[in-house]
Amino acid sequence: MRPCRADISRSALLANLALARSLAGQAKLTAVVKANAYGHGASLCARLLAPASDLLAVASIDEALELRASGIDKPVLLLEGHFEESELRIAVEHNFWLMLHNERQLAEAIAFKPDSKLCVWLKVDTGMHRLGLPPEQVSDAVRALRASKHIDEEIVLASHFACADQCDQEPALAQVKRFDEINQALALPVSLANSPALLSLTGVARDWVRPGIMLYGSSPLEQANRHSEQLQAVMGLHSEVIALREIPPGDGVGYGLAWRADRHSKIATVAAGYGDGYPRHAPNGTPVHVGGQAATLVGRVSMDMICVDVTDCPQVALGTPVELWGTQVSVDEVARQSGTIAYELLTRMPARVPRRLVD
Ligand SMILES: *Cc1c(COP(=O)(O)O)cnc(C)c1O
Repeated sequence: MRPCRADISRSALLANLALARSLAGQAKLTAVVKANAYGHGASLCARLLAPASDLLAVASIDEALELRASGIDKPVLLLEGHFEESELRIAVEHNFWLMLHNERQLAEAIAFKPDSKLCVWLKVDTGMHRLGLPPEQVSDAVRALRASKHIDEEIVLASHFACADQCDQEPALAQVKRFDEINQALALPVSLANSPALLSLTGVARDWVRPGIMLYGSSPLEQANRHSEQLQAVMGLHSEVIALREIPPGDGVGYGLAWRADRHSKIATVAAGYGDGYPRHAPNGTPVHVGGQAATLVGRVSMDMICVDVTDCPQVALGTPVELWGTQVSVDEVARQSGTIAYELLTRMPARVPRRLVD
């Protein structure tokens, strides 16, 4: 077998969930497993997360049905609600809850006459201007939902933060203030916090929290804090050295010979490239852990391979294990060097990389 694989750590996932739980206090928790559990494998992660979560959350009915097909029976929240009216029947049948965010969804949910009750959350736009009803439409919407005998009485009012990852908490606190004004007369149970909010803001856990990225051990915060420092990497992207050579100073490595040796160098070729989710934009110098030692990426990332300068790692041989990211090299660091965020690297992890559950 090709050695490139993603090890998924059960203990790290459960430790991160426990951290989210402790930050959530009395709030209920929906574990976000959209986008194939941020690339980690939806059914694998959901099976581990579900027993200690109150709810699971995904982005589409297909993702929710995939959870049901793998035997998971927790209720599942569809974070963007339904896209087509026909999904409402499937939602009731499978206990999928809908986060309604626009007038069309609202009208369709109210007109729907199912056999059992439909559970809905209502999203309000408190400043991100991406999804949600405008604040002035919320009380009418709630009245209409409450008037329908087919909608479950427990309606949760939700909103989403635009800037909870930033050091400057002012924009997030302004959203909280707007949200509290909207809910003052309604007094609905509420949900505000994603991972960055849960990690960095106080008083936002409220009734329901919605952590995603933190469960997988990546910190979304601009600046780490004492909570984010406790997160444990869940995915270890591993491979092996499949070729080794020595080159004289002045010679180049890889496509375009985009890196040149300034000394006599030992170059290890590793079986992992952008076809395995490693970012093509990772620059020379990006950290790579080879056989327990720190080394650096050199030359352009190929589809199936990268090259690593192992001149200072004398014991490297064919078959030496390599960590592209995980506990030694954080995915956040690889993302930062590559001009992106861990969310993107993780969710882009392609199907060809086998996921393997480890302790
Ligand atoms: C994806 C998502 C989350 C989780 O966000 P993280 O930053 O990964 O914690 C929470 N709420 C909504 C509505 C989402 O779409």
